[in-house]
Amino acid sequence: MPRRYSELYIAARSALRAAGVEAADVEARLIVASASGKSTAKLLRDMGIYATHAVEERTGELLSRRLAGEPVAYITGMWEFYGLPIEVSPEVLIPRADTEVLAGEAIAWLKANRREGRVLDLCSGSGCIGCAVARSLPRASVVLADISSGAMEVARRNVARNGLAGRVSYMLCDATAPPPVMTGQFDLIVSNPPYISAIDLLTLDPSVRDYEPIWALDGGEDGLDFYRAIVENWTGTLRGGGAMMFEVGEGQAAEVKALMRSAGLRGEASVKDTRGVERVVKATL
Ligand code: GLN
Repeated sequence: MPRRYSELYIAARSALRAAGVEAADVEARLIVASASGKSTAKLLRDMGIYATHAVEERTGELLSRRLAGEPVAYITGMWEFYGLPIEVSPEVLIPRADTEVLAGEAIAWLKANRREGRVLDLCSGSGCIGCAVARSLPRASVVLADISSGAMEVARRNVARNGLAGRVSYMLCDATAPPPVMTGQFDLIVSNPPYISAIDLLTLDPSVRDYEPIWALDGGEDGLDFYRAIVENWTGTLRGGGAMMFEVGEGQAAEVKALMRSAGLRGEASVKDTRGVERVVKATL
């Protein structure tokens, strides 16, 4: 018996709900859309028509991956960040809504200080922060830096997908080591480095622990290894009056501010996320 898209959607939603998935409606739409190669908008328009057997089968496959715990972003291969479509793969973290606070601060600072110059996104992963910055500031040039060549490939496709290829360049390097020669100087360094402490790594949600890249999360014993190394090695690449901004984990803001101060940065401040957690720490040179 052939089934309509609406029936596939409702069946997927019920299965997700029964499994305790919070956003069962959104995820069911994403899964059926992905299985049929439609956008979610097109799927909504097509709810009344019959799906092919192949689409029905594919929906079942994707749904069982989700029910086994895989995040929906890895299943569909796409996510949204700051209004931009961002490809994701298991080589990169799925962009978090919290990280939009960091992107927003970076964009606001560049605009307020009329410094649409050179921006470095350290530990760039999917490239989501750098893409948001480049997209909002048409005269800025952005350097994406990451240690993972797999992540860099994903980032390159995101830059192209968002029409930013002319203004973004790439640097394959270790954020905890001194910058490569000829790195040059930056008006802004923005970074969402790995910051989960050893103890918190043990209690990560299974959907994170079992699927997301551990090297993008592991911040060492106290979670602060990357902040220590970045302020020590990269502050020297800031232009006078330039800014450094980090995303930080819950409870890390005070320590990261102190690290920035000891590296010679001033005017340390933090910004809260939507849950009231100090999520971004910033300071200027
Ligand atoms: N916010 C991410 C998480 O909770 C961690 C991101 C990071 O380590 N930079 O999984």
